[in-house]
Amino acid sequence: MSAMVALPSWFFYAALILLGLVVGSFLNVVIVRLPHMMEARWKADAAEILDQPPASQETAYNLAVPRSSCPHCGTQLRAIDNLPVISFLILRGRCAHCRAGISWQYPAVELIAAAMALLVGMRFGASIVLPFALVLSWTLLALAAIDWKTQLLPDSITLPLLWLGLLASLGAPLTIAVTPTDAIIGAAGGYLILWLVFQAFLLLTGKEGMGYGDFKLLAAIGAWVGWQQLPLVLLMASVAGALVGGLLMITGRIERGRAIPFGPWLALSGWLTLLAGDTILHAYLTLSGLQ
Ligand SMILES: [Zn+2]
Repeated sequence: MSAMVALPSWFFYAALILLGLVVGSFLNVVIVRLPHMMEARWKADAAEILDQPPASQETAYNLAVPRSSCPHCGTQLRAIDNLPVISFLILRGRCAHCRAGISWQYPAVELIAAAMALLVGMRFGASIVLPFALVLSWTLLALAAIDWKTQLLPDSITLPLLWLGLLASLGAPLTIAVTPTDAIIGAAGGYLILWLVFQAFLLLTGKEGMGYGDFKLLAAIGAWVGWQQLPLVLLMASVAGALVGGLLMITGRIERGRAIPFGPWLALSGWLTLLAGDTILHAYLTLSGLQ
């Protein structure tokens, strides 16, 4: 094989990794800022309902402004200190100004976003499916990280992801493999299954086992992968959540009885199903003797 032929695929994967790093850097901003923006919104709404004066007008805070700064010393980051992963390595994980430690979240999210882009690119190649699969992958990563940190799954992400999945199904099989019928049943079914589990759990234990955000997330995943894959997504998410939750409890990283967010496991399972749902399902059925 000549280099002329090999070069384009090399470029393709390198570009995907680079794009993943840049998108990961943006996802970090969303992961850090969106929960604060939601909290400010709730406080403003509550003040209005209670007829209280709104909190003093603070400086604008959203995904675009202010520029990124060190949470410890407040120094604004120079562009050179804000490069995905590379700056973290050059600065050896410390702020260039005050030497305070930089959270591992930043390089981790950037690397995971790049790895996802690479794997999705290997799975779907240069096709129309690719941008759809990338958007789904990165959105799931942002949701998983936000839920892990704050136990929130923002409607402002889960609902657009759901709509986008339904719309993408209109272009099937060019855009995604799921037909509109499978996507619609997947969305409604995903919500309904977890809602029923939630109600049963509440009835049996008097506790809320998860949040409405989890229902919306599984609805969105159902829209993207189709209702046929929902049992697989739920099974993998439950096993992963139980395993990791158990491990964290045994090692004393979290207290017994503390709620473990379910969203990250739903997101991970949804993503694995996007990549290899049919293969995993077939392997499971074969191993369990069902097929
Ligand atoms: Zn600093």
